[in-house]
Amino acid sequence: MESPVVLIPALRDNYIALLYATDGRSVVIVDPSEAEPAIRYIENRGLQPLAILNTHHHPDHVGGNRELQQTYDLPVYGSAEDRDRIPGLTHPMYDGDTVTPAGLNRRGLVWDIPGHTRSHVAFVFLDDELLFAGDTLFAAGCGRLFEGSAKQMHTSLSRLAELPESTRLFCGHEYTVKNLRFARVVEPENPDIEYKLARAEALREEGEPTLPSTMGEELRTNPFLRVGEPAVRETARAQGVNGDDMVAVFAAIRAWRDRF
Ligand code: ZN
Ligand code: FE
Repeated sequence: MESPVVLIPALRDNYIALLYATDGRSVVIVDPSEAEPAIRYIENRGLQPLAILNTHHHPDHVGGNRELQQTYDLPVYGSAEDRDRIPGLTHPMYDGDTVTPAGLNRRGLVWDIPGHTRSHVAFVFLDDELLFAGDTLFAAGCGRLFEGSAKQMHTSLSRLAELPESTRLFCGHEYTVKNLRFARVVEPENPDIEYKLARAEALREEGEPTLPSTMGEELRTNPFLRVGEPAVRETARAQGVNGDDMVAVFAAIRAWRDRF
């Protein structure tokens, strides 16, 4: 199946995702960091925008909301907890709610996945095997803990890790190469990391996105999904962390990534 998602690079290393409706002509816009690149893409192809989906309130994910809303009169879906933080929010959502912009004809669920922010959500399209994870799960990485605890983030990532391995992961940033270089230090003996790093570097040299990843690849390469693996626990133990405590291992790796 051809991917129903295109990624538009924006700002320095953000991606705006456009998810095509089943008609192939209309789109929802996920995390428009800025309006202009999205509008240009939409106008050049004569597309019909249906809605904006925001994973969280950070400016590099909602910066284009107002202008897009003024241009196209769009509904905006995001966490109800971000009512006062997402510009133009029209559809405050709770965990388990469905996003149903008219014309999309795809079923998308909202999952609360706090940790990066206290009100961060994912948009999960189970039938289409698509995950929009914002700044919670990156290819080979995870978001910084701005408003949440390590325990919260670990719980959120564990929830995403339950998705089928064939699920395609779209996230907010192109951080894959740096994340894999860090992953290699955490797990020097993991050949899947080596292989994926080489491929990611080649893609970046061509100016291509490294996304989507898949949940299967993430389970094999992402240190933040692998805190139960003996090699990762061993690395944490060497830093004086209790290797039997998965949240402690997670917290240590996350703090180490901040210094990397
Ligand atoms: Zn963010
Ligand atoms: Fe971001």
